[in-house]
Amino acid sequence: MKIHEYQAKELFGEYGLPVQRQEVAADAKTARAAAERIGGEVVIKAQVLVGGRGKAGGVKLVDSGAEAERKAGDILALTIKDLPVEKVLIAPAAEILQEYYLGMILDRGSKTIVLMVSAEGGVDIEELAVTFPEKIHQLAINPVAGIDAPALRSVLSAAFPVPQLREQAEDTVYKLYRLFLEKDCSLVEINPYAKVDGEQLLALDAKVNFDDNALYKHPELERFKNPEEYSEDEIEARNNGLSFVSLDGTIGCIVNGAGLAMATLDIVKLYGGDPANFLDVGGSSNPEKVLNALRIILGNPKVKAILINIFGGITRCDDIANGILMAMDQIDIKVPLVIRLIGTNDVEGRRLLVDRGFRVAERLSDAVEQVVKQV
Ligand code: GDP
Ligand code: MN
Repeated sequence: MKIHEYQAKELFGEYGLPVQRQEVAADAKTARAAAERIGGEVVIKAQVLVGGRGKAGGVKLVDSGAEAERKAGDILALTIKDLPVEKVLIAPAAEILQEYYLGMILDRGSKTIVLMVSAEGGVDIEELAVTFPEKIHQLAINPVAGIDAPALRSVLSAAFPVPQLREQAEDTVYKLYRLFLEKDCSLVEINPYAKVDGEQLLALDAKVNFDDNALYKHPELERFKNPEEYSEDEIEARNNGLSFVSLDGTIGCIVNGAGLAMATLDIVKLYGGDPANFLDVGGSSNPEKVLNALRIILGNPKVKAILINIFGGITRCDDIANGILMAMDQIDIKVPLVIRLIGTNDVEGRRLLVDRGFRVAERLSDAVEQVVKQV
């Protein structure tokens, strides 16, 4: 799960990380009032779930309420990497003396949390990682042993030779690490981690991603959920207990079992088709699930044909066929449909479907070949 900068900064605040006061606005007038409350020069920042906002014109400094209103209006009219800006953050403008980078990611390969530090942070960090990777210092943290204090000091010294700054950075890393572990993050990032007047380091940007598989442990993170992170059909599928991922293609797929669903997508591609989605209806013959699956898939205007691929194991194919028929009775399908049904009682199951005029195949390759011809 991704969250907005203002949400990440709220969480940073709870962990004692150095963030500034902030306000959030969804319209230009509210942004103006916030800017006037804060007073002086303020920064107005687009809140979208992608990086690169600075380069896209989504970060502006202003020094009056009127200008805040104007710039907030401009930013709220932007679409950054396909995402419309719906909110802006308003904070005191910092006078930046130097931009550092601090980040932590979960590295599955080494089974560690990798800390990355650079004295050359800012909007070009991705470029720096390619052109001068040696300028990004790394420390692998074993989550069982925790942070090795001398090793951390040595890594931080490279970017922060001045002890006073290094000590602040050290404090920030410990707090960030605690947040990373306690909230089951997959990534946390501060860029810029900025030096301002008075040898102070501030988190001027904040990025936090959570591991979705651990979200069930964190009801307190519920309030940070952003519906715009998922497509409408993904949300609808989730509410109906279906495992669903939307894709870009034209062939809607309904499959029982996640492994078979993955294999089905591969075979559709192999035969020159493009799947519109991944969908696992689970191992039951529940007509309700098939019906919901069909509804969600048919709601996608890109879908030109549908493939239902069912392998009946414990569930019998005749039950499944009846489930499919019940669903079909309740929904009007205007695109071609191909059903592949095999497993326990499959002869009977296929007969039920054929009797009602459906295209039914026994072999997956035959079904896929047929469905690809329909688009
Ligand atoms: P990103 O481009 O999406 O990563 O957005 P950031 O929040 O990192 O902002 C991009 C850039 O805007 C930063 O690297 C800074 O150079 C600049 N910026 C952000 N906040 C401030 C601020 O308070 N004062 C100044 N002077 N610049 C800022
Ligand atoms: Mn940034």
